[in-house]
Amino acid sequence: MAEPVPTKHVEEAIGWRRDLHRHPELAYQEERTADFVARQLTAFGLSVRRGYGGTGLVASLTRGTSRRVIGLRADMDALPIAEATGAEHASTRPGVMHACGHDGHVAMLVAAARELSSRPGLDGTIHFIFQPAEEVEGGAHAMARDGLFSDFPLDEIYAIHNWPALPPGHLVARDDAMMAAFATFDIVVTGRGAHGAMPHQGADPVLAAGQLVAALQGVVARNVSPLESAVVSVTQIHGGDAYNVIPETVNLKGTTRWFEPAVGDLLETRMRQTAEGIAAAFGCRADLRYDRLYPATINAPEPAAHVRDVAARITGLTVETAPPSMAAEDFAFMLQQVPGAYIWLGAGRTGENPGLHSPRFDFNDAILADGVAFWRDLAAARLAAA
Ligand SMILES: [Zn+2]
Ligand SMILES: [Zn+2]
Repeated sequence: MAEPVPTKHVEEAIGWRRDLHRHPELAYQEERTADFVARQLTAFGLSVRRGYGGTGLVASLTRGTSRRVIGLRADMDALPIAEATGAEHASTRPGVMHACGHDGHVAMLVAAARELSSRPGLDGTIHFIFQPAEEVEGGAHAMARDGLFSDFPLDEIYAIHNWPALPPGHLVARDDAMMAAFATFDIVVTGRGAHGAMPHQGADPVLAAGQLVAALQGVVARNVSPLESAVVSVTQIHGGDAYNVIPETVNLKGTTRWFEPAVGDLLETRMRQTAEGIAAAFGCRADLRYDRLYPATINAPEPAAHVRDVAARITGLTVETAPPSMAAEDFAFMLQQVPGAYIWLGAGRTGENPGLHSPRFDFNDAILADGVAFWRDLAAARLAAA
């Protein structure tokens, strides 16, 4: 049954977490964080290799003779957000904060490595993977490019994200999609500038852009099957700088989300056709740039079943079901290489419960012990001596 993590170790891990929170680092700049991880894991007797995806690192623990190998992954980067928690351990770097709880993910995995380093009965290898740049910048992909999976071949891989929408002590690991695929897009609508009082002498890209924002929703409403999921969000409009001048160009930017690759293809094709057609109707031209960034994060059924079994039977967590999220996650790249599972660990607070990426978000230290115990139990179960 559930075996608690020693209180002293939990308190120490909370101290690490708060120190990381005070010193957040943006994508690919996680030098101090990586130094901390390398120092701790070396002290616990693990061998550490650095320089995967820049600041990324891998610490390895081998016991016994089994060739079984599992990977456990934590992300290290913070966000360009000005912290508004008022916490005693608030960010000391203006405009940068751990608003996604990656400080907690690092602390949990380091603490789990400590528990596992002294654990009897393990037979196999655990690679503790600390990745840079999860937020939009594709650090998982960068680690893979630097040889992560050829230098450290894995049978299974797992990652935890703290999840404020779930109460503490609860966990979700679906058998299939957890998070959506995403792209960003830029549309330049080019018309012909004119005096604001004499619009007939030009071609108005502002009017075309306005119609286009509305028309793009038709792609989701009228082209994607009602039984599939997709999002098109125009999140920026920039154009013009005078009261009485119709500008030459208007720029629209935004993001799309989907799960099925065919839906991703359909979004791009129909958005391009819609942009070109609407612009043409107003005598303008539209150029769409469409960048696919992360694929969907898809769990493999067998590792997901191990997660649910260990969580419920050994760690004593409550396993829940939930629909996937339309947010995206670059652990998707790792799951394309190795079967595994992405896990949501309940992190909700009673009262005000700021969501991920809120300037008032702060990783819930009350769940740290759950995360450490679950990581320990999962690794121990997957590498149990026969
Ligand atoms: Zn995030
Ligand atoms: Zn995150």
